[in-house]
Amino acid sequence: MNSALFTHPACLEHDTGLGHPENADRLKVVLAALDTEEFYLLDRREAPRAEIDQLARVHKRDYIAHIFESIPVHGHAGLDADTVISPGSGEAALRAAGAACAAVDAVMGGEARNAFCAVRPPGHHAESNQAMGFCLFNNVAIGAAHARAAHGLQRVAIFDFDVHHGNGTQEFCEHEAGLLYASTHQSPLYPGTGDARERGDHNNIVNAPLWAMAGSPEFRHALTKTVLPAIDAFAPEMIFISAGFDGHSRDPLAALHLTESDYAWATRKLGEIARKHCASRIVSTLEGGYNYVALANSCKAHLKELMAL
Ligand SMILES: [Zn+2]
Repeated sequence: MNSALFTHPACLEHDTGLGHPENADRLKVVLAALDTEEFYLLDRREAPRAEIDQLARVHKRDYIAHIFESIPVHGHAGLDADTVISPGSGEAALRAAGAACAAVDAVMGGEARNAFCAVRPPGHHAESNQAMGFCLFNNVAIGAAHARAAHGLQRVAIFDFDVHHGNGTQEFCEHEAGLLYASTHQSPLYPGTGDARERGDHNNIVNAPLWAMAGSPEFRHALTKTVLPAIDAFAPEMIFISAGFDGHSRDPLAALHLTESDYAWATRKLGEIARKHCASRIVSTLEGGYNYVALANSCKAHLKELMAL
């Protein structure tokens, strides 16, 4: 069994306007980086559209309708100060969320050992009733909800190593004993959530904030001491990764000093837990990462490890 790569050309048609850091070139460099001989074994698949019922496991139906009603016929519209949409955004958002659900189906169906969703818009800031931080629908949460609802999984863990805290994913998980959300993120930083004292109703939220300028030693310490033991103790039946690469030292939006080898190491360590508890079932989905070179190299490092699990 190989690793699967889910993407769709529609994800390139979500146009956020001139100079926006979350732009189609990000996905282009990721896809180009993975279009090389060393990744020829990837099982490349087209992401289907998510069904509205799949989105509605995470988002309020009024909110979903509001998103589609807000899509402009021409030009751009703003959902908040930095969340911009264009005529292609609805289709892109459906494919991004659909990728996560299809990845779950492929992994649960034994067609792929694990999967990476190279999609945009990203998702982890999107709350049940609020678009924010470049995110419309919470792709990773929609995937996790699908794993529970369609495949009957009782314990699903999400690890988010994006440099920003995934406030939307935490909101989705915090009242559900069958969900674990663990995050490393720079703090203080947008969106301002993610304090270590936010633990969820069932001690199922694990926040490991890092100071600005923290690098490899601090990141690895947070994983070894806090994040990985919590996920291991939870004994997940599937592990999701919110794979944002904006903690890289070259990233312009934040001030951590991670390198691609840190993302490879984190993927490998998570893979050890996945092997122990859930036959290596991992679904990873792209979140942030705004320096093209760092993003491409980090994605390659992440995928190489997923393929080696
Ligand atoms: Zn981010």
